[in-house]
Amino acid sequence: MSQEVVQMKARGFICVNAHPQGCARHVEQQVATVKRTVPTHLKGVRTALVIGASTGYGLASRIAAAWGFGARTVGVFFERAPQGSRTGSAGYYNTAAFHELARRDGLDAWSLNGDAFSDELKQQTLELLRSQVGPVDLVIYSLASPKRTDPRTGTVYNSVLKPVGQTYTSTTIDLDRQKLTGVTLEPASEAEVEATVGVMGGDDWRRWIEALLQAGLLNQGARTLAYSYIGPEVTWPIYKDGTIGQAKKDVDHVAAELDAMLLRQVGGHAWVSVNKAIVTQASAAIPVVPLYLSILMKVMKEKGVEEGAIEQMTRLVTDHLAAGSKPQFDEQRRIRLDDREMRPDVQQAVAALWPTVTSENLTQVTDYASFQRGFRNLFGFEVDGVDYNQPVEVERGW
Ligand code: NAD
Repeated sequence: MSQEVVQMKARGFICVNAHPQGCARHVEQQVATVKRTVPTHLKGVRTALVIGASTGYGLASRIAAAWGFGARTVGVFFERAPQGSRTGSAGYYNTAAFHELARRDGLDAWSLNGDAFSDELKQQTLELLRSQVGPVDLVIYSLASPKRTDPRTGTVYNSVLKPVGQTYTSTTIDLDRQKLTGVTLEPASEAEVEATVGVMGGDDWRRWIEALLQAGLLNQGARTLAYSYIGPEVTWPIYKDGTIGQAKKDVDHVAAELDAMLLRQVGGHAWVSVNKAIVTQASAAIPVVPLYLSILMKVMKEKGVEEGAIEQMTRLVTDHLAAGSKPQFDEQRRIRLDDREMRPDVQQAVAALWPTVTSENLTQVTDYASFQRGFRNLFGFEVDGVDYNQPVEVERGW
C-alpha cells in the first residue's frame, strides 16, 4: 500500500505520470454513459476479446461490450505498473478501475499485460481462453503503437507520420508553447512506408484471427473489427494519403481476406469501423490533428453532435453489433462511426474557421481548452470531482 499526493508532471505537453483516482473517474463516467444509453443488456455478444483494451477506442469498446451486452471480456494491452515512486501508466489504472467496476456489477473480466505483437502473448491469450474463458464472439483490434517486432523474422518496424510522394506544408499547434506554427514534412522513403505498414497495417490482426481460428476459439458467427480513420481533405496528405493511411489501406485489404475466411469457417465477419477523430495519446502525436480537433470540437459542440470514444462505441454495439440490428456499411463495406464528423455542414464550418485561427485567437476561436483538458483527462488529471490535494493509493491492480 502506498498513499501519495499525485500532481500532474508534464514534459512539454505530455504527462509523464497518471492519477489513479482521476483515471478511475474517467472509466466510471464511461461506464455510466453505457448504462444510461443501454439500460438492459443487449444480446449478440457473450464473450469479447479486446486487443488494445486499456485506453482510447479499445477501452471504450471493452466498456461498451461489458455493460452493453453484459459480456465477459478479455483485455490485452501494454501498460506500466506502478514502481517505487513512479505511478503506473494511465492505461494500467484504467484497467484496475475497469476490473473493480466489473466485479461490482458481476461481470467477468480477465486482462493480459504484454506485447500483443509477440507470439508469447498470443499463446498466453489462447491458453486463458482454453482453460477459463471459452471461445469468443467478438474480437476488437485497437492497437496503436509506434513500433512492432515481427516475431517471425525479428525485424523491428518503427512507424513514421509522414506524407507519401510529396512534401507537405501546413499549420499545426506547437503544443508546448500553445502557438500556431508552420510545419513542413518531407515525404517518407519507401522503407518508412513499409515500416509503418509493418506496425499499423493488418498483418498482426490477421495473425491473431488465424491463431484463434486454428485453436477453435471463435464461436459460430464470431465477428472481428479493426479501427480506421479518414477525416477531411485538409488532413489527407498527413493521414489518409500519408504513411499511416497506407497502413490503413492494408487493414482494409486484410479485413476483406479475414471476412471471407471467417464466413467460410465459422459463418462470421471481419469489418473495419471508421471512427471519429478524438483526443487520444496516439492522435495528439499527429501533426495538424490537434488544430483540427480544437476546431472540430468547437463546431460539433455548437451543433450538439460532439462525441467521444464511449458514445461511438455505444452506437457500435447498439446499432451494428446487437442481435436484431443490421450493420450499415459504406460502399467499401466499412462501418462509419465518423458520420457526424463528416457531415457536410460540420466540415464546411471547420473549413470556414480554419484560415481565421491565429496564435493570438487560438483559445477564443477554437476549443483548444477542451483539447488540452481532454488530453490531461487521459492521464487522470483535471477530471471533475477529483481532489488533487488528497493522497491516493497508487499501488492498484486487478
Ligand atoms: P490509444 O493510444 O488510446 O490506445 C492504444 C492501445 O494499444 C492501448 O491499450 C495500448 O496499451 C495498446 N498497445 C500499444 N502497443 C501495444 C503492444 N505492443 N501490445 C499490446 N498493447 C499495445 O489509441 P487509439 O487512438 O484509441 O487508437 C486505437 C485505434 O483506433 C487505432 O487503430 C487508431 O488508428 C484508430 N482510430 C483512432 C482515432 C483517434 O482519433 N484517436 C480515430 C479513428 C481511428
